[in-house]
Amino acid sequence: MLLKNCAWVVTQNPYRDVLKGVDVLIEGEEITGIGKGLKAQGDVIDCSGKALLPGLINAHTHLAMVLFRGYADDLHLQDWLTKMIWPLESRLKERHVYHGSLLAMLELIKGGVTTYCDMYFFGGGVRKATLESGVRGFFAQGILDFQTAEFKDADEAFRLFKSLAKKKTDLFTPIIGTHAPYTCSEDTLMKAKELAAEYKTLIHIHASETRKEVYDSLREKKMRPIEYLDDIGFLGGNVFIAHAGWATKGEVSVLGRRETKVVHCPVSNMKLAVGGVAPLPEMFRENVVVALGSDGAASNNTLDIFQEMKVASLLQKMHRWDASLLPAQTALDMATISGAEVLGIESKVGSIEVGKKADVVLIDMEKPHLAPVHNIVSTIVYSTRPGDVDTCIVNGKILMRNREVLTLEEEDVLKKASESVESLLERSF
Ligand SMILES: [Zn+2]
Repeated sequence: MLLKNCAWVVTQNPYRDVLKGVDVLIEGEEITGIGKGLKAQGDVIDCSGKALLPGLINAHTHLAMVLFRGYADDLHLQDWLTKMIWPLESRLKERHVYHGSLLAMLELIKGGVTTYCDMYFFGGGVRKATLESGVRGFFAQGILDFQTAEFKDADEAFRLFKSLAKKKTDLFTPIIGTHAPYTCSEDTLMKAKELAAEYKTLIHIHASETRKEVYDSLREKKMRPIEYLDDIGFLGGNVFIAHAGWATKGEVSVLGRRETKVVHCPVSNMKLAVGGVAPLPEMFRENVVVALGSDGAASNNTLDIFQEMKVASLLQKMHRWDASLLPAQTALDMATISGAEVLGIESKVGSIEVGKKADVVLIDMEKPHLAPVHNIVSTIVYSTRPGDVDTCIVNGKILMRNREVLTLEEEDVLKKASESVESLLERSF
């Protein structure tokens, strides 16, 4: 496949080169050539007027929660979670998660996201939706000490992870998702750590999201959440934390020393009014790798990583009274190559380079709200919307072309998702 005459190729290579008027050759799953006047046997896509980017990475989400989009807005976090979300989640079955995940896949593809990391339940449903859609996925099996719709306790959740791990494919990687330090005991966290070592896999966890969490931790454990995770020996290079919004400078330096990574979810944090703004400048200073995530659509309410890039940048500027903070290039890094690094796949995806997997998206730049282009990276971060994504390619396969998703039946996915919502709300299952 030849992507011919791309107006811009935003490579995200180590030099952050932006190339103009070049072709990109894809053979099989890989990018095999970048340059002018390339020839190909197969499909030729005219990319004039378009920008080619590495596919975006949504490194923290709860995909099937798209079913709860708009269901519980404008509520305090505790009420949102305990009165609205948990009762609905207690009725979930694998089929709901499957149909919800398919809806999420449509949204990801149409928004230029080629890799996600989901933390949720019923991984079988997520796996099926992932393989059908063709998106690259990481599924963090939710682990909690109490009963959920899927399992009785943490031990059963560990068993679910082990059986799912046997079903790993090129595009679907099961990992461990210990929910949070306040929902998993020390024993559960350390079992997860051992299991991750045995399976050579990643561990994902929420931590330091809200002030309540921090103060509860200080009261009960005499330590802040990240201090506690370090104290018990949980942190390490294979661990990545969602949020860390209340992390202190001391905790940030611990993250740096342990090579623990972070996923920042600014829209969800702001919508749930968590108060703490993740100290990204300090994280960058301590070489903590930071990716972006939308979090679940019940607290966002989209899976839109363009929005996440822009809001991440605006939030730091506003919070620190410094308009130079988190420039567009850094925001794009977080959504591409840093996302890949958090998931341990930076040698495979996250940039457009020969030898990498062809996970790329084409943006139609010939739109009023994108013109003129003085700096393509700024235009992408501050002006582009999901609707501007024209073509989405994962692992060398075209998932969407001219905004038509080729791997999924859009109408059918929407219909099944709304049927799932009906059944959840009516308790008919
Ligand atoms: Zn989350």
